[in-house]
Amino acid sequence: MTNTQALPTVAEGSHQIFTASRLTRGNRIFPTKISVSPVQVVKIKPSWFSSDEESINIRHVSSVRIKTVLLWSDIWIESSGGQNQIYSHGHSKKDAQTIKRIIEEHQMAYKEGALSEVNGTRKCPYCAETIKIEARICRFCNREV
Ligand SMILES: [Zn+2]
Repeated sequence: MTNTQALPTVAEGSHQIFTASRLTRGNRIFPTKISVSPVQVVKIKPSWFSSDEESINIRHVSSVRIKTVLLWSDIWIESSGGQNQIYSHGHSKKDAQTIKRIIEEHQMAYKEGALSEVNGTRKCPYCAETIKIEARICRFCNREV
């Protein structure tokens, strides 16, 4: 746990791309890529003539599951209601965990943002008490936020 963990403020449109290992099944020539932005998660599966894309809006992601066997991780990203699912395999354990963390951070940022607009408050990242959007110091734990 670090104290430098600020609320994620990711610029609109910025995204991170994670590429599956070429050493894994189905990824030798055209490895699958997972792109995570503040808006959506996209799985890109290139092939010779086209590329397949599946996407889920960050707001609709209900769960991110990781299963690691030996060196590689499978990752499932499910949407609420279960009508959509992104599955990808052959990611490093570290990448899989990062994908999960980023998605959760984006979701948190979205929720905080939506809440803030409604009532002018947000959650203190340290003590989780509700404070004003403009607050620089949390009035509950006295930490800089
Ligand atoms: Zn606090």
